[in-house]
Amino acid sequence: MIKKLRCFFLCVFTIGLCLSTIPYHGLDSHAIAETTSAPVLPEISPNQTANMKLAFLGVSSEYINQISLMALLPQTVKQFADPNSINWTLNFSLVFYPFPDNASDSLRNNALYSEGSACFNITLLDKLLSQFQDVAIPECGYLLAFMWIPNATDHSWFYVQERPDLFLNRTDYFNGVPSKYWVFPPNFGGSRRALCFDISETMEASPTESLVTSVVAKLINNSLGDIFTDLGGSIDPRMIAADVQRYQNYTVKILWLNGTGEQLPLEQIQRSFEDLMPWTNWTVAIETKPADNALNDFIESRTTELATPLSYSAVLSNGSSFTIEAERNVEWNPYENSGENDPLNQYFFNRVKDYFGLTDLEDKSIIPVVLLQLHNDTAFGGGYQAGVSWFPHDVIIVAFQGSALTELGESGPLLLVHLLKHEIGHWVSLIHHSSVFDSDYPKIICSMRTLTNEFCSFCKDARARISYMSFYNATLGLLSKNQAKAAILEDELNDSLQSFYNWDYTKAVETVTSIYFALDTTPPNIINVLQTPPEDNVSPQDEVKVSATVTDGLSGLKRVILNYTNHNGTWSAIDMTSIEEDIWNATLPAFAYGTNVTYIIIAEDNFNNMITSQEMGLEYQYHVVPEFSSTTILAVFTALTMLAVALTRKNRSKRFS
Ligand SMILES: [Zn+2]
Ligand SMILES: [Zn+2]
Repeated sequence: MIKKLRCFFLCVFTIGLCLSTIPYHGLDSHAIAETTSAPVLPEISPNQTANMKLAFLGVSSEYINQISLMALLPQTVKQFADPNSINWTLNFSLVFYPFPDNASDSLRNNALYSEGSACFNITLLDKLLSQFQDVAIPECGYLLAFMWIPNATDHSWFYVQERPDLFLNRTDYFNGVPSKYWVFPPNFGGSRRALCFDISETMEASPTESLVTSVVAKLINNSLGDIFTDLGGSIDPRMIAADVQRYQNYTVKILWLNGTGEQLPLEQIQRSFEDLMPWTNWTVAIETKPADNALNDFIESRTTELATPLSYSAVLSNGSSFTIEAERNVEWNPYENSGENDPLNQYFFNRVKDYFGLTDLEDKSIIPVVLLQLHNDTAFGGGYQAGVSWFPHDVIIVAFQGSALTELGESGPLLLVHLLKHEIGHWVSLIHHSSVFDSDYPKIICSMRTLTNEFCSFCKDARARISYMSFYNATLGLLSKNQAKAAILEDELNDSLQSFYNWDYTKAVETVTSIYFALDTTPPNIINVLQTPPEDNVSPQDEVKVSATVTDGLSGLKRVILNYTNHNGTWSAIDMTSIEEDIWNATLPAFAYGTNVTYIIIAEDNFNNMITSQEMGLEYQYHVVPEFSSTTILAVFTALTMLAVALTRKNRSKRFS
């Protein structure tokens, strides 16, 4: 099923690692000037250490050549795009224990037995291991557990967290090809800061020290890209803005075109994002309306009949089944130029503001999602549901065959919500985990790869690391303008930075955001409002230039607006622009003789503190006077006199020639 999910913007897999040769300097000792009145707040160190605990359970030390294992592993790993790169020094340690008997008993007793093979429950294993003190996750690091499970020949793994009744022992068919999608490969993890590698098969063949050592090295190397997962900016520089976004409140606005009024469990989206970014609040709202005729015609023009219908079906463990068939397909080509030029995408790009009633597309805390429900016989881009997340174009587009909701029964809405969660995940910069699921790769349990309630601990760490750096650096930037405040907040900032170095990420981000959002709570100041021509001398042909001195103490100005009315019942707004520092300008259009014009200035700082000149008791008015004011009349009279003189002279000269 998930094979059919498409999200092209970020579908580049980053399995490879950039190995950095930058030497490790240890955590900066964050030396702080102790006596000076102007504190030097520490920068975040780009060099950090991760403790990588390799726990061998049931695999004795005779099978691991520690020297050659270390030679096969990288010592450093780079995470994130500049300027937020972290150079991790990997501090590997090895421990050997027998596999706990009670754990293997529990796995067998609670297995799902299917076609003669036992499927062990991944969630149960994770719970059992989390109670086992010897394989505790290391501080500031990750656990990689390599297991030989006793008395467990011929087993596989099973994972369903969400509605197991719908997915347990289910077989999915894509165009007739069966797929036990919910059965997992032997290597998986990510619910906690842990990966599990079931190497029982290797151990039960004819293991040698060199074989097991090289298998383990390969598994670790193939996991590092997922453990130290990057964010979108590493793939597309335009996504660096998405990496470093700083919002506390997010609103997901879903516009369900051609929706039939069915409800989706939207609170799942809210919950998973508040879990991913615990310092944020999420609101998810859905509005249903019919697609406009132009869109319907456009889609029809891009729809082709399929020679062989696409079919997707699933047989549940209780014998009941679903089937979806598509006779037609909407042609959608996001492969060329990353899809930016696909007319269907362009259609939506051009309508974001209108569709969602937005004024400011720069405010990325509002996430517009177009959810397009097609006819029951119509696939989208060759699949029955597909999505794409376009942060740089301010919209997420998800289209699906209508019967995905109806014929898939209860799992239909779940799968659609999963797709939404995945695409919104890209909006906050998450990228795909590895799509290679053979025995050398772990399958990460995460909404960025599989059907689950949650994002994995690696995505959570990555998101928190960048958020922290973004808030911290912005806070330092603001405090550089306010040394007195910096001195007051110095200890708090150092505590917060220490939490960051200690991988206590939720606490770290929460402390730095509480400082950041409290830094600027005062609105800008507006003074020296001047207009040309002056208010007693504006003629019908005159545009009026307005300038004002607008300043903001801390965060700086986001925008200054000139709002005006000619008393016809409406107000209009013009963005003022700043030519020289603090001086903001805009030009009012000319108005007919006798018009009364009133204008005010509105200023907003980067912390969304807003003020209007009206609130400061400043309101400006002028009355458009007749064209021929005294000065004009004088000028015209002078010109006419000179013309008359010239003409007289010309006539004279003619006469005497
Ligand atoms: Zn995707
Ligand atoms: Zn993840």
